[in-house]
Amino acid sequence: MVKMKRGVIEVITGCMFSGKSEELIRRIKRAKIAKQNVQVFKSSLDTRYDEGSVVSHSGAKVEAISIDHPEGIIAKIEDGTEVVAIDEAQFFNDRIIYVIEFLADKGLRVIVAGLDTDFRGEPFGPMPYILSRAEKVDKLTAICVICGDEATRTQRIINGNPASYFDSVIMVGASEKYEPRCRTHHVVLDKPDIFHR
Ligand SMILES: [Zn+2]
Repeated sequence: MVKMKRGVIEVITGCMFSGKSEELIRRIKRAKIAKQNVQVFKSSLDTRYDEGSVVSHSGAKVEAISIDHPEGIIAKIEDGTEVVAIDEAQFFNDRIIYVIEFLADKGLRVIVAGLDTDFRGEPFGPMPYILSRAEKVDKLTAICVICGDEATRTQRIINGNPASYFDSVIMVGASEKYEPRCRTHHVVLDKPDIFHR
């Protein structure tokens, strides 16, 4: 009897500085040690370090193919690929959801890393839909820079002040920085108060 290949979706998520890329790279390296054929993709919007690689904050690095559109992954999948890794999945449009599911349905192991929430603490792009389709989810945490507790949120600071809820998620060229914070110390200016209290 022919053994069916079992596809699976694994998600590594959490706030910025929680070690998502580090964990993604660790799984990629282990798959390669196991002699599996791995292809790594990332959004061309992510040019933080190196366009041709996924790089963690601690400097670990693997080669990656930069793509503009989710369908670019399917177009570039090679015969024999068993594992597909995708970094910064939150940057893609919603069609990434169906690309990931298509690959898993074909029997591939798809490992996806991405931010679960944006700087406002709201679900980030396609991530909630990927999380809900995954067989396995690991939500990593960082350390809150204010109190030292576990950080689950990404604080955005523009010109030294917490960002407004209404600032656009991607502001190219703005003077801004991000830091990990816990729920208590995560500040979002102008956040709508839905209970009016
Ligand atoms: Zn805190």
